[in-house]
Amino acid sequence: MVDIFGRNVNIIELFDYHSKKTNYRSRHFLIHDNILMISSSGILTPDDIIEANSQLMRILAEQDLSGLALIWDIRKLNYPGVKIRKTLLDINVELSKYVKKAYLILPRRYRLLVQVFNLFIRTPAIPNEVCEDVNDALKKIISPSDKKNKDKSKSNHLTLRRDELLSKSKEELVSIIENIEKKQKENVHKVVEAIGRLSAGDEFKKIDIEIDENDPNYELLNAFILMQQDMEEMIRDYKNLNKNLELKVAERIVDLIDKEANLRAILDNSDRVTWLMNTRLELIDFNIAFTNEIQRKYKKSPRIHQNVLDLIDNTRERELWKSRFEPTLKGKPCIYLDQEFYKGEERVFEIKTFPIKKSNKIKGVSVFIEDITELKKSQIKLIEKNRDLEKLNRELDSFVYRVSHDLRAPLTSILGLINLMKLEKDRDKLQEYITLQEKSITKLDQFIRDIINLSRNSRFGVTVSKIDFGKLVNDIFEDQIYAPFAKKVKPILEIEEGLSFYSDKQRLNVILSNLISNSFKYANPYRDDPYVKVKIRTEGGEGIIEVSDNGIGISDLHIPKIFGMFFRATHKLSGTGLGLYIVKETVEKLEGTVSVKSEKQEGSTFTVTIPNMKERYEQAPRS
Ligand code: ADP
Repeated sequence: MVDIFGRNVNIIELFDYHSKKTNYRSRHFLIHDNILMISSSGILTPDDIIEANSQLMRILAEQDLSGLALIWDIRKLNYPGVKIRKTLLDINVELSKYVKKAYLILPRRYRLLVQVFNLFIRTPAIPNEVCEDVNDALKKIISPSDKKNKDKSKSNHLTLRRDELLSKSKEELVSIIENIEKKQKENVHKVVEAIGRLSAGDEFKKIDIEIDENDPNYELLNAFILMQQDMEEMIRDYKNLNKNLELKVAERIVDLIDKEANLRAILDNSDRVTWLMNTRLELIDFNIAFTNEIQRKYKKSPRIHQNVLDLIDNTRERELWKSRFEPTLKGKPCIYLDQEFYKGEERVFEIKTFPIKKSNKIKGVSVFIEDITELKKSQIKLIEKNRDLEKLNRELDSFVYRVSHDLRAPLTSILGLINLMKLEKDRDKLQEYITLQEKSITKLDQFIRDIINLSRNSRFGVTVSKIDFGKLVNDIFEDQIYAPFAKKVKPILEIEEGLSFYSDKQRLNVILSNLISNSFKYANPYRDDPYVKVKIRTEGGEGIIEVSDNGIGISDLHIPKIFGMFFRATHKLSGTGLGLYIVKETVEKLEGTVSVKSEKQEGSTFTVTIPNMKERYEQAPRS
């Protein structure tokens, strides 16, 4: 219980707030259950005011207090700068839930400023005596009076105490008053001059003014001093902000330069001719490949902002490019192909155009040109390879089938004969079985030899050497003694004089053996003069080998098929059906061709044309 205005009043201290950063302290009291008294001192910061206020709100809510009258004594507060006043405006809204009237006890020097800023408390006109009474009453419980401060305010050199005045002479008093007036005029002059400078747009410069409480312009001058403090505070903030902004801008610029450099490197390191242009087809950017291409084609150096069509001299070409850009300028990405004779061959270029969009509006076109000749070539190669593989696969299928069949057939017959022989006692019969077995084994051997030849042909490279056709053909003729009518058939060999021919000896042997043995095998035994003729000549650097006979011939129906794998036109005589297939494959390996002309009962002529590999032989490195 404390005595205020002659009444006993109940006062409770709600809480005492101390700043962690400054000397700010505020004590909060509840007087008579409906007056909230706050007494603050020291340097206030926005953080402190927010923190102290949130504590106060919590307590007011907890105690279910409302409709309070607030008295806030801020006479011992350091000047509350512009930031504090802004924070107070926000807090005002929260406080209005609990406080219906607010009174501020503030020093005279803040009063004008508080009014100018229309701040927080709008009723500062509490009669001074009331303030004094309230404070006197609270003095005992609130912080004791600051004696030093009081002394300091009294020591103002413009203030004259009553006893001092009485001791002065008249002249002295006049001089003192004149002095005071002069000082007051000087102050007003300083302020007016400073405001004039500011309004003329000069940089803000703080001016020092000493004022006396008795100066008639006290409040105005004081407000000016406080405004100077505000300006200083704001300029400091602004400078800090500017510094931060400058730093951020600098960082961003470095970042952008880095990104730009990276993009440039990507563009310039690409072989693709690349350029970007606006909707008027003026160049925005392009890479080194583009510059090189323009120089090669049009002998010009492209420049940024230049219209791309101006680089092209040929009217038709210009129209072509214009028509290519049109759909992309309407938003459609396109692909075109160009063919051009360049670097000694027909080359293929792929042109891609893309619209450049910004917030859904078309801003231009980007173009990329790529030389896809190699790609196309490898695509074609791939298709060919695939076709070859498919063929090989088909052949392999039938090959496996035929091989298993043709290998098993003679083996089965041999096994059958062996079983018969086990039971047979008759020597003549046994001899007959052995001959039959020999036939089966020869067939098997021929078959295996054919397969080995085929496999060799596909696996090994071509070995070139000089060919002695005389020896080669005669050796083959000699091997034909086992052919059914060998003795009856006349072998004939005609070789061009002075022939100098180079090829793969092994492969020629395979080709000739097959053709010659066929001619012997398919000779017509009913003729009086069956023959097999081998004729070798050259024509335009190529060797032409003809193997002809007057044998049984081949029907027109069979001719297209005889070079196929396992094809046989007759089953009267034994054979594997691989001979002519091997001939065709081997001739192809020697980069040549084989053809046939035949007439039933008249005879056949097989013509093999192969290149003379003399040059290749001479250029090949020898060990
Ligand atoms: P094969 O002789 O083992 O049956 P080839 O592939 O060598 O197999 O010959 C295929 C077919 O072509 C033979 O079955 C035969 O009917 C026919 N042929 C090949 N050469 C001659 C030829 N000189 N005269 C008549 N027919 C031939």
